[in-house]
Amino acid sequence: MSDEVHKVAIMGSGPAGLTAAIYAARANLSPVCIEGGDIASKTDLPGGQLMLTTEVENFPGFPEGILGPELMERFRKQAERFGTQFVQGRVVEADLSKRPFTLEVHNTLEDTRSQVRCHALIVATGASAKYLGLPKEQELLGKGVTTCATCDGAFFRNKHVVVVGGGDSAMEEALFLTRYAHTVTVVHRRETFRASKIMVERAKDNPKIQWKLNRAIVDMEPDGRYLKAIELAGTEADQGARERLEIGPDGGLFVAIGHSPNSVVFGDQLALHDNGYIKIFDGTSRTSVEGVFASGDIHDHVYRQAITAAGAGCKAAIDAERWLEQQGL
Ligand code: NAP
Repeated sequence: MSDEVHKVAIMGSGPAGLTAAIYAARANLSPVCIEGGDIASKTDLPGGQLMLTTEVENFPGFPEGILGPELMERFRKQAERFGTQFVQGRVVEADLSKRPFTLEVHNTLEDTRSQVRCHALIVATGASAKYLGLPKEQELLGKGVTTCATCDGAFFRNKHVVVVGGGDSAMEEALFLTRYAHTVTVVHRRETFRASKIMVERAKDNPKIQWKLNRAIVDMEPDGRYLKAIELAGTEADQGARERLEIGPDGGLFVAIGHSPNSVVFGDQLALHDNGYIKIFDGTSRTSVEGVFASGDIHDHVYRQAITAAGAGCKAAIDAERWLEQQGL
């Protein structure tokens, strides 16, 4: 184990983590950013959720829009320019019981482990896609079931795909998938949407998109390669209804029902809300452990935007800098 103790370590390389890195680096704190994700994966890349999106139209400064991965590349370059050191891998153990804090990092590409020690820690680990929890769902992942239209949409050229969910992600995925699929059916458990009006309108205006509202997916039928059919059941407003939706041959199911915070690695060391998001205090990024700060989707279950995450990353870096100064570090 190296004796080096970093002033600040940042966990996560999405908009929150990389903005924290830019601010910490410009404050001469020589931050180390543990990127997270899995470079070999398709759905959990370092760089956070924007790595899985296409066009980002609402990030200020890009009037023509920008591709999510390109935006994250620019964040990263800016953090690098001011001296951020990047560590590939994800934190698999964290000891916050004593300072300096110790993080055990697993490099998934090389299958090696290393330790990072730090005086201050900024947690920007974000959130990951949720699943429906159906028995066959996990075994069919990558075989017809996916959470990422950008990654897998092209496999469903001229096929029928289903998107489940009623939020902005579901609308965005459905619209994106119309580039490939001949039909996109949105299955949503209610009649009203959590998604913004503009996104719902765009989806409703698209002739390739069909709707199954007040319906839940209760089963799916593989056809060897991908999916043949899915089984729908009526929800509260339409109980008792049962329907088989034929989507084969080689149909797909895109699960877009929201995200859960990536806070498991901390166990009970940090105070969490009931839904697993990290608690922060007094309008700052301070957590229940002194010297640990949280920013981005890991604490924000309300706004969850790239721009709010970036703002939170800035706050966390300033909070960490002031705290280190108070400690004489
Ligand atoms: P979300 O807003 O939480 O929506 C999740 C949707 O999935 C809801 O419609 C929910 O239904 C449904 N759902 C949840 N659990 C389910 C289950 N077990 N079975 C069936 N349906 C289920 O999540 P999101 O769409 O991922 O969006 C997250 C945040 O990112 C939001 O703030 C959103 O505005 C933002 N976002 C923005 C953009 C954009 O601006 N372009 C794009 C993507 C995301 P109920 O409504 O019935 O709860």
